[in-house]
Amino acid sequence: MIADFAWIRPEPGGLYIRPADVWIDPSRAVGMALVTHGHADHARAGHGMTMATPATLAIMQERYGELGEARPMPYGERVALGGGVHATFRPAGHVLGSAQVLLEHAGERVIVTGDYKRRPDPTCAPFEVTACDLLITEATFGLPVFRHPPIATEIARLLAAREAEPDRAILVGAYALGKAQRVIAELRIAGYHAPIYLHGAMEKMCRLYAEQGVALGELRPVAGTAKAALAGQIVICPPSALGDRWSARMPDPVPAMASGWMRVRQRVKQRGIELPLVISDHADWDELTATIAEVNPAETWITHGREDALLRWCELTQRRARALALIGYEDEDD
Ligand SMILES: [Zn+2]
Ligand SMILES: [Zn+2]
Repeated sequence: MIADFAWIRPEPGGLYIRPADVWIDPSRAVGMALVTHGHADHARAGHGMTMATPATLAIMQERYGELGEARPMPYGERVALGGGVHATFRPAGHVLGSAQVLLEHAGERVIVTGDYKRRPDPTCAPFEVTACDLLITEATFGLPVFRHPPIATEIARLLAAREAEPDRAILVGAYALGKAQRVIAELRIAGYHAPIYLHGAMEKMCRLYAEQGVALGELRPVAGTAKAALAGQIVICPPSALGDRWSARMPDPVPAMASGWMRVRQRVKQRGIELPLVISDHADWDELTATIAEVNPAETWITHGREDALLRWCELTQRRARALALIGYEDEDD
């Protein structure tokens, strides 16, 4: 018998689990939501009940203030949602607290990956491969052109640029949740122990990561630091700050950006980036295809990005697959 997974329904506003009346990463406020991780396009405020990992709930509280009813879902804890549906959160390796959701109902197992990656990341638990009948996978970088280099290579390029430009500040645009902390942690692993300077918008999330046990070393605010003292320093800021007046506080800044999109020359040019760092918290093409092969589900649903090439790859490798058109998920500068 071919399972049809009728109990889980892709709606424009998210995935709806009918027997339990629960949504996953809904794009609008709902009664009960399972939230895979803290990025704004997945974690929205205003749900009657939010179920997420303890770290994701802490991130959401930091961003939105009081959440209303919240249920912490530690990794590996199997919880009855009602309607005969059980949910278990499993690590996704994307950012701190990020999770895949395993749903079980009527003998069928479904994994919703949320955003994920397979590369090691010192700031979060690694992705766990989980057997399932239906895999619902993201596809942000679902084109063969996207192959992320090892992060150590990109960090070495960042450190080399700093050595080469002792009179300039190296200004690294990085997504405030996840990417910023990963770049900092990787700099520490590479042996860089000088203070790292932060744009004001990065401070809260870095503090939260440190409180959750992620070692980031000495961080200093740019605010209150003399311009001359920033020469030869690494400064982390949101991507949007690279082009605005705030960057005039830096001595002759080298605009850098840490993003999977830095693979695309046009984006590098558009943003005026001098030092593009191809660092992504999403699976690249090889990770996406390897994960589908490894999980080897009876069926794959593809969402959240570039579905077409991955759909074609599934067809060529004799896998049942379909593309979903969910709305409300953005590029997130990742
Ligand atoms: Zn994300
Ligand atoms: Zn996302």
